[in-house]
Amino acid sequence: MQQYTEPVAVDCPSCGETVEVLVDLSIPLQEYIEDCPVCCRPMNLKVTSGESGLAEIEVRGEED
Ligand SMILES: [Zn+2]
Repeated sequence: MQQYTEPVAVDCPSCGETVEVLVDLSIPLQEYIEDCPVCCRPMNLKVTSGESGLAEIEVRGEED
């Protein structure tokens, strides 16, 4: 069984710290919210995966 989750470094839009999030690369396109481990504010993650792994990751801060 191949492991598809991979830690990816992203910059938190709220506090600017570089944090690691675990991304499931078996899903081609996903959007979800994960709390920043440093400032505890939600980060909106949009992850695009291709056949060779992570294609694109977009991080946005809390929506108003
Ligand atoms: Zn943060």
